[in-house]
Amino acid sequence: RRRKVRRGLGTLVVLLVRGTIMTRACVVSVVVPMHNESLSLEALFARLSPVLDRVGEPAEIVCVDDGSTDDTLERLKALRLREPRVRVVALSRNFGKEAALAAGLQRARGQAVVLMDADLQHPPELIEAFVQHWREGWPVVFGQRTSRKTDTWLRRWAARSFYRVFAAISQTHLPAGAGDFRLMDRRAVDALNTLVERTRFTKGLYAWIGFRSLAVPFEVGERAGGTSGWRLGALWRFAVDAITAFSTLPLRMWTYVGTAVSLCALIYAAHFLIRTLLYGVDLPGFPSLIIAITFFAGVQLIGLGIIGEYLGRVFTEVKQRPLFLVAEDLDPLAPPTEDEK
Ligand code: UDP
Ligand code: MG
Repeated sequence: RRRKVRRGLGTLVVLLVRGTIMTRACVVSVVVPMHNESLSLEALFARLSPVLDRVGEPAEIVCVDDGSTDDTLERLKALRLREPRVRVVALSRNFGKEAALAAGLQRARGQAVVLMDADLQHPPELIEAFVQHWREGWPVVFGQRTSRKTDTWLRRWAARSFYRVFAAISQTHLPAGAGDFRLMDRRAVDALNTLVERTRFTKGLYAWIGFRSLAVPFEVGERAGGTSGWRLGALWRFAVDAITAFSTLPLRMWTYVGTAVSLCALIYAAHFLIRTLLYGVDLPGFPSLIIAITFFAGVQLIGLGIIGEYLGRVFTEVKQRPLFLVAEDLDPLAPPTEDEK
């Protein structure tokens, strides 16, 4: 029994020491969402670890495995033994990058939290500059992509039109070229963590929380390996999510459309009344009738559809399902598992 007590005390001391080191000391957290990034992992850590060494602050790397179907998780677990700063958070399935980021942000303990992609399209070396500016007092420092060279023309065109529409109908101003590659201080991270919405357009949320932000230009690199998870269909859904989350104009505009249509109809009615009184009744006009009926049936269905888009999202919010579920959380703070001992 004494041995048991002693062992218990021993573990407790280890935990306490680790705990004080980690919680007090962790200054910089790097959050990396990963979905099937097995091919980029080696290259990522080969560049990220030296950068964190140079930054010179106690750091953690929160790797969120977003339900990868390849061996990303196994590789991360192996990496954990080589790189003690790694914390692995495995989601129970693929929840999407936005949810993975939310999971990482909620778990990050640093005073400054850096978000970056795993595929090395965000150069880790820039983190040094980010931290430098953070020390100078900037609460938010973001990487500003200078060109979209790595994208196809179709994607570039889609992105450009999306931002134009978004700027026209939303009050939130999105800085040009800003994305998920950024550093945020504790206040900004806590502010983001209070936003519990299910449909997360993170670019909009970053802008919405405010705080003084500094742009650091960078060139988006090629993917280190694997393929991008985005398809054009997904981009469309993303755009609709973004617009519905940041503007109610699509909902409200039907009042004006309806008013305009009714006004036209009234004028047309007056025109017919006068004509009938002056010249009597004639009956042509069948085509115009059909055209008007089908056209306005279409307009009404579009209006209903837009209400449906919002209603569907209201429904997802009302259900209050969690944004993500965690299957495993391998924390450097937690006691070592059997195979690590
Ligand atoms: N990602 C994720 N969950 C997903 C899709 C992507 O966590 O469902 C991660 C991915 O591993 C990468 C980052 O999000 O670290 C950006 O993804 P990707 O490179 O596919 O997007 P793109 O660079 O084309 O915008
Ligand atoms: Mg990428």
